[in-house]
Amino acid sequence: MLNGCQAGRKAERTNFHMFDQLRCAATHEAGHAVAALHFWMPLLEVSIEPNGVGATRYARRLGFGEIDRWVCVSYAGPAAELAVYGDADEAGDLRVIKQMLKALDLHWGADQLAEYRQRAQRLVEAERAAIGAVASELLRHRRLTADAIAAMLPVPVPEGALWAA
Ligand SMILES: [Zn+2]
Repeated sequence: MLNGCQAGRKAERTNFHMFDQLRCAATHEAGHAVAALHFWMPLLEVSIEPNGVGATRYARRLGFGEIDRWVCVSYAGPAAELAVYGDADEAGDLRVIKQMLKALDLHWGADQLAEYRQRAQRLVEAERAAIGAVASELLRHRRLTADAIAAMLPVPVPEGALWAA
């Protein structure tokens, strides 16, 4: 499964330097990656391209029972941008979330989606230092495996610790 996304709105700013665009994409993907590992999801790797497009890849197709965590992880990308830059464009990720929910014939209301967005924001705040470290490494290498990212994280948080909050 591929969760591709783009920091499109920022790319359109005339004074938004190429490096800033990349840094923003790195922060966004680092948010997805750290959240995915937080929930012990089968993350494979994350990458960023020079045009500001990022991708989060999983090692296998995600199961039906993982959809709630996956939605939270999907919101964690824009949440990381929001935490670092003060604003974020979540349109791309939200589109993918809605496509996935539709494919699974799930009918989530706006309130439920808002709740998952808030969970992602809390998770990002708690993991902010790790996300910053992963973003820096992603900026340097453009591609990081799940193992490389896991090695950068502090002691793993027990599964569901934040989820239950
Ligand atoms: Zn994203």
